[in-house]
Amino acid sequence: MSPTAKVRGVVHLISDLCKGCGICVWICPRNVLEMSDKVNRFGWRIPRVKNGCVGCKLCETYCPDLAIWVEVVRNGT
Ligand code: SF4
Ligand code: SF4
Repeated sequence: MSPTAKVRGVVHLISDLCKGCGICVWICPRNVLEMSDKVNRFGWRIPRVKNGCVGCKLCETYCPDLAIWVEVVRNGT
């Protein structure tokens, strides 16, 4: 990988696994996630994904319901 490579993340939310706990929102160091008014089919509010993910995977690691995963994309390699 070149030293100038840029890393970013693409966040995938599996809505129907989410319980709306908000841990991912709380833990994201870039404030990429915020709770929305949208609910999944079980009635739980789910997060919305904004721009700016750096692919750190903290949200993926701490989600207790395996509802979120992050694809890490490297540009400039
Ligand atoms: S991977 Fe990191 S930066 Fe991206 S949404 Fe999750 S916690 Fe935030
Ligand atoms: S941590 Fe997981 S279950 Fe909790 S709000 Fe985020 S995606 Fe949903």
